[in-house]
Formats: sequence, C-alpha cells, structure tokens
Amino acid sequence: MTKKRSLDTICIQGGWEPKNGEPRQLPICQSTTFKYTSSEQMGRLFDLEENGYFYTRLANPTNDAVAAKICELEGGAGAMLTSSGQAANFYAVMNLCQAGDHVVSSAAIYGGTANLFTVTIPKMGVECTLVSPDATKEELAAAFRPNTKVLFAETIANPALTVLDIEKFARAAHDHGVPLIVDNTFATPINCRPFEWGADIVTHSTTKYMDGHAMTIGGCIVDSGNFDWEAHHDKFKGLTEPDESYHGVIYTQKFGKLAYITKATSQLMRDLGSIQSPQNAFLINAGLETLHLRVPRHCENACKVASFLKSREDVAWVSYPGLEGDKYYQLAKKYMPTGTCGVISFGLRSGREGAARFMDRLRLCSIETHVADSRTAVLHPASHTHRQLTNEQLTEAGVDPSMIRLSVGIEAADDIIEDIRQALEHTAD
Ligand SMILES: *Cc1c(COP(=O)(O)O)cnc(C)c1O
Repeated sequence: MTKKRSLDTICIQGGWEPKNGEPRQLPICQSTTFKYTSSEQMGRLFDLEENGYFYTRLANPTNDAVAAKICELEGGAGAMLTSSGQAANFYAVMNLCQAGDHVVSSAAIYGGTANLFTVTIPKMGVECTLVSPDATKEELAAAFRPNTKVLFAETIANPALTVLDIEKFARAAHDHGVPLIVDNTFATPINCRPFEWGADIVTHSTTKYMDGHAMTIGGCIVDSGNFDWEAHHDKFKGLTEPDESYHGVIYTQKFGKLAYITKATSQLMRDLGSIQSPQNAFLINAGLETLHLRVPRHCENACKVASFLKSREDVAWVSYPGLEGDKYYQLAKKYMPTGTCGVISFGLRSGREGAARFMDRLRLCSIETHVADSRTAVLHPASHTHRQLTNEQLTEAGVDPSMIRLSVGIEAADDIIEDIRQALEHTAD
C-alpha cells in the first residue's frame, strides 16, 4: 500500500486529478444533464448497474471531485455534497431513520440542528433525546431505546465550544448497535479526524472554514465505510433489504462499504433534491486549497485573542478550548493537538447591555451572522439569534445573556486585539 498523502497535499491536489491535456484547475461542469448514444446504457445507469453521470441532482463531476477531496481529508470511503450544512445533517440522520425511530444527540449542537432534531424531524415521526456532551457512560446508555438508530454530536460545539469525547460517544453508540455521526465543521479535518477515534459518519457545513471566504452555503457527508450494517440487519432495513424504488437493490450487498453514501445519493438526494450547485462546489474547492494554511492561523490568532481577553478586568469569563485552564483543554489536547478552532466566546462584566455597547464600538471586527470566515466577526446571541428570549429563558437554553461569540479571522492578531482593546475601553464610559 502506498503511504497516505499529507493533508496539505490533499487540500491542494485531492479530488480533481487531471489526465494528460486536461484542465489543471477543476472544471465547472455547469450542465444539468449528460449525453448518451445508447438508450440501453442510459437504462443501466438508472438501474445503478453502471457508473456514470446522467442528471446533476444525482451526480455531477465537479461536485464529485470536491466530495472526493473532503472524503480523502477525513479518511473516508465515500462522500456527497449537499446544498447546505443543514441538508447534510438532515440527510445523514434520515438516511437511517423513518417514522417510529429515535435519535440520541448531544445537547451542545448548532441552533439550526437543534431545531431540526427537536421540532422538525419529530413532525416526521422521529423522536430525539438530548444528552449532555459531558454525560457519563451510564447517562449515555440510559438515553438509548430499542428503536434508536443514531448517536449525533459535534466535535467542537457551535456556539457552546464544548469538545466531544469522541471515543466515549463512539463506544456508547457501538454498544447499542448504532453509528456515531459527528459534525466536524468547527475542528475541520485539519485539526481532527473523527474516524480515527471511532466515529462512523462525519458531516460538515462547508459554509464555514472549508469555504472560509463567506462566499457560499454548502454541506458534505462523509462515510467511513466502517459500520457493519448487516450485523444489525433488522435495525437498518433501508440498507439491508431491497429498495423497491431501485428495482430491489440491496445497498449493503451491492455497494459494500459504499452502501450508506450510495443510498443517501440515489434515494434521498433523488427524492429531496438539496443538491450543491457545481459553481458553488468550485468555490468550495478554491477554499479547500488553502484550508491547511488558514486553519492554523485562525487557531494561532484565537489563542492570542483569548489570552488577551482573559487578562482583562472588564471581561467576566472566556471560553476557548485552546486556552490552558479551559474546561475542555485536556480533551482538545487529546483529539486536536494541533489546534481547535478560531471561535471564542466570552462575557463582559457589564453583561447583556455592555455587550451591545462593546460591539457598536468595534471597527475592524464586523457584526455578522456568520463564523469561521477569514474576516473577524462578532455576534451577540442575546441581541441577535436568540433575541426573543428573556435573560431567564436564555440561561435555560444554555446561552449566557452576556455571551459574545467572536470568530477570530486571519488578519494580524495585533490589529484584532487593538480593535477589541479600544472597544472595551470605550464600553466602560
Ligand atoms: C453553520 C453550521 C451548520 C449549518 O450549516 P449551513 O451551511 O448554515 O446550513 C451545521 N452545523 C454546524 C456546526 C454549523 O456551524
């Protein structure tokens, strides 16, 4: 076996590998459809008897190249792009669930995912139990039911910044015969590769660090190919028994390690259609070409900013898993020794009102509903994403009313710190 390529090389050269005379840069195949000269061959494509492109909702060469790059970065067996991170998490879960099933998820997840799991999928008959990311083995075990199909969590939670004990969660999932799905958006494969710790499926909002330039919404699902669906045949009949919508194909028998991702593509994407546009896939690829350079810089800058905030009298608290003394520092050292992410949360002594004054004084850092962009951005959940909630309701939802979420960019750290310093000094007036 050849030695695995380094992540740096995959970021640049993975996915699209042109043959002699082909374009060096990834071509954008901006075509909904593909031409054939034999009706017979087209039929075989529809029967999944032959590989090939016929309609971009099912597969497109540009999308496939970008998915292959992300797949190689994560060390997976197969991957698919989706139109958003939301679609990726929805498909990742619903590829295994139907009405009457149950999902266990960490409570420390992105707000959109929390809504998806606790409001939207229950309307489709799939129930969800939330567990603390710090749950003990026994607490985790208590959340599972006979109809549980999935355990879900985020490597570094947005915005809680908890770090997942991936091995503990993987063990709990496997003890109950289900896969662990991990949303690896914040850590990125540059800092953490969940498959190496036992996760079975990884999802991404490529909108964040992978794009990195705030250009395009996108998502990705990567399958490790490691979960043994046949060992739990009756739990995962969608994979282990004939799919009548594909002339009785049995995904595990026909596609082996690619069973899960093939079903997600040929069934869910076919029917629900949240496909990534090839133009946008091209932009994501351009972002990926510098992921290995940008992510370490985000982390380096965030460490400096977090230390600065920690040193200030007017800052009540700082949460950053890359900061020594943080509750999650040890777990971060284990699972992401090269760095965590660029996002910090902190609170001012002047609380909810002080946060608004502080943010209005910022000049270099901009107020945005976004994270993980090359530009430093700031958001105050109590004034923005969660503004309908009272202080009491915020605390109940695990959001400190004073919490400011700072997404540290890749500008000069000194300039970011200087901007924060002047804004803090004016906030005191
Ligand atoms: C942003 C985000 C999502 C949702 O992704 P979109 O691309 O905005 O749909 C999911 N998970 C995490 C961790 C995120 O940060």
